[in-house]
Amino acid sequence: MIPFAVQKLFFYFWKKLMMKIRGCLFCQIAAHEKPAKILYEDEACVVFQDIHPRAPVHLLVIPRRHIASLNEDLGKDEALLGHLLAVAGRMAREQGIDGTGYRTVINTNAEAGQTVFHLHVHVLGGRILRWPPG
Ligand code: AMP
Ligand code: ZN
Repeated sequence: MIPFAVQKLFFYFWKKLMMKIRGCLFCQIAAHEKPAKILYEDEACVVFQDIHPRAPVHLLVIPRRHIASLNEDLGKDEALLGHLLAVAGRMAREQGIDGTGYRTVINTNAEAGQTVFHLHVHVLGGRILRWPPG
């Protein structure tokens, strides 16, 4: 039996290899080259439904421009990062989960469970979310 941590690490390197071969999935969604249920877009970001929702509302807010993760030097992108959060909040209000509550999550790298290496803000709500996350 392969330990869970080793499986996660293997999956992480597999995803990175696939991205090198096939290109970035979220860049392709942003360019409308791959299908997604897009709920909002502007010149800087795109919002679409997560394909494997972990809550009744599970959206992804992504920058249109490719940024792999928060590990990049984003000093010049502070306005863009703020915009992503502002849009996440607006989407939560539109989805009607602002009153009950929702969670915004950015996973960075293997041990946090990042599987798509294009920065994205998860917006999760519509059910009770436990803390701390697993
Ligand atoms: P993370 O694990 O934080 O990198 O999140 C990646 C998210 O992207 C996961 O929740 C996936 O379910 C989601 N995802 C992967 N492929 C697609 C797709 N084609 N359309 C929408 N969401 C996707
Ligand atoms: Zn990308």
